[in-house]
Amino acid sequence: MAAEIDHLGIAVRTLEEALRFYEGILGMEVTGRETVEVEGVKVAMLPAGAGADAARIELLEATDENSTIAKFIEKRGPGLHHIALRVDDLSAAVDRLRSEGARLLNEPRPGAGGHIYVFVHPSATGGVLLELIQK
Ligand code: ZN
Repeated sequence: MAAEIDHLGIAVRTLEEALRFYEGILGMEVTGRETVEVEGVKVAMLPAGAGADAARIELLEATDENSTIAKFIEKRGPGLHHIALRVDDLSAAVDRLRSEGARLLNEPRPGAGGHIYVFVHPSATGGVLLELIQK
């Protein structure tokens, strides 16, 4: 299975505070902002590289206290929340993961940018929350 880094998801207290660093100091550019209601997050995407396939930094701010991002920050503070890989065939990957007993945290569904994604529990991935995205 070919996989490419799509983005690195970073849980932040506020987008504005984080953007003072990523935009203001590093000079990165926000190319997309959106609210993903089902996850309870506001997202800012900043490409790290050139071209449409560039890996991105995904800044995640909770929109309410029940959001997984709010709970993550409460427990561990802001920081790296997940990594996301693009795959050629998400449903084949999901079938393989299920047959190997990996724990999936959601059914494949559309998220930021309309891409179909699934989260894989850290117990299967070496301790990091993994998001798989259909290319
Ligand atoms: Zn993500």
